[in-house]
Amino acid sequence: MKDKLLLASKSLSGISIGDAFGESFFGEESLMKSYIHQRFIPESSLDFTDDTIMSIAVFKSLEKFREINQDFLAEEFTKNYYLDINRGYGPSMHQYFRALKDGENWKKVSYSKFEGQGSMGNGGAMRASLIGAYFYDDLDKLKLNAELSCEVTHANKEAIEGTKAIALAAAFAAQEKLGLIKLNQQDFIQKIKDELNDSDMKSKLNKALYLDGNRSVELLVKTLGNGIKMTAQDTVPIVIWMLSRYRNNFEECLWNTVAALGDRDTTCAMAGGISILCCDENSIPTWVKDVEQWKNSKFYEH
Ligand SMILES: [Mg+2]
Repeated sequence: MKDKLLLASKSLSGISIGDAFGESFFGEESLMKSYIHQRFIPESSLDFTDDTIMSIAVFKSLEKFREINQDFLAEEFTKNYYLDINRGYGPSMHQYFRALKDGENWKKVSYSKFEGQGSMGNGGAMRASLIGAYFYDDLDKLKLNAELSCEVTHANKEAIEGTKAIALAAAFAAQEKLGLIKLNQQDFIQKIKDELNDSDMKSKLNKALYLDGNRSVELLVKTLGNGIKMTAQDTVPIVIWMLSRYRNNFEECLWNTVAALGDRDTTCAMAGGISILCCDENSIPTWVKDVEQWKNSKFYEH
């Protein structure tokens, strides 16, 4: 059990690195593109955002209950939100937390989004890699816990499939690192796709399967999205593609993911949280020391 928490903690560190890295590339587009081309990080202090803060709550649930406890998660999300509301939460999350603070039940609020369909935002998927790391050896438990964690804020089928996809990618990365499996670029995508229910998310992964080899970032964004729409199915597929190709090299994976722009703190949080599980340790760059430390943050220690 301790080993699994260690894997989840490693994934959370990867999330925080990717999140803070990606966030530093919001700005005037041509300038950001030139920074990315030069591989220059525009900011010297790298602070994480909501992606990491919500993942910390997921970690605490695993630590305390060895599974996702939805009531606990809703409570921790809310507590952490009010510790600092300026961490890049999406507009619908601000509403969500105000409703919870007013005493409404998380389930009612989550299901009431978008006329009862629930939000299909990428917020469930952005905090899912550590769930995959924790349940890497039990895909049924993995999928169940991924779904439970997503439902707390995003009670929508696409959001849930996206959350499962990220958790599965993390599990397969962890399995690879342990030498239990070996996957080529297509196998990696196929294995994730095979575990999902029919959805836009799943058909996008099918498209990703046919984009093997070296592809231009423009074509990838055009076909798979880059998170600019903030939905799970517009965000997760390109991340899975980036991981299918670059997961063994952590830094390469982040630079290629950020080059797609879009919802870049979130795409990089997902990529970082998974790549760190299987990458060559030498591919973790020295600048990670400049990233805000989640373990020492007020969001982890109460
Ligand atoms: Mg964010």
